[in-house]
Amino acid sequence: MTKVRVFTNILKANENIAQKNREIFNKNKVYTINLMSSPGSGKTSLLERTIDSLKNELRIAVIEGDLQTTKDAERIEKYNIPVTQINTDGACHLDANMVASVLDSYNFKEIDLFVIENVGNLVCPAGYDLGEEDRVVMVSIPEGDDKPIKYPLIFHNANVLIINKIDLLPYTNFNRLKVKEDALNINPNLKIFEISCQTGEGLENWFIWLKEQVSKKKR
Ligand code: MG
Ligand code: ZN
Repeated sequence: MTKVRVFTNILKANENIAQKNREIFNKNKVYTINLMSSPGSGKTSLLERTIDSLKNELRIAVIEGDLQTTKDAERIEKYNIPVTQINTDGACHLDANMVASVLDSYNFKEIDLFVIENVGNLVCPAGYDLGEEDRVVMVSIPEGDDKPIKYPLIFHNANVLIINKIDLLPYTNFNRLKVKEDALNINPNLKIFEISCQTGEGLENWFIWLKEQVSKKKR
């Protein structure tokens, strides 16, 4: 069982670094989320919508995790907020050390909301604490409604579930009740938002909730 032990040690080391990241966020009262989903669910689109709507109320900064491109970071840069690209060079998740390695480039005294967009993947990001306060997992309508059943760990470890692209519901057989039921069976504490980054439906609730989390953090 050597393999198991090696993996346990890797996660233990990750946990220690994540704790140090968390101390930096806590010391500066920065509310931090780890945004996770399959590729193409709309993580970057949600970020664009969020920054666009809240940039006058919240000071937002971003880490963009990606296998090898800078496309997402370029999309975020247009909003003139602090953003760093982490290219994992093929690794399918961010780990706490990758996050730690870019934290020096931020002035956390001037940040309210820090978003870490993980690499598109529903498997291993679930196992790697980055030091975030909340974990947000996103699924989108075209992916199908079997994600909670197939990838239970990420739903178990998340605090928030976002169902995106609800404008496409009429064109699919996606069963939103089933997804919510399956996800809540795995994790009854999940906070759920149903949104469309295309039409804007449901986004207001997400914005209100985010602002609440930021102000809780400041107290
Ligand atoms: Mg993206
Ligand atoms: Zn991975």
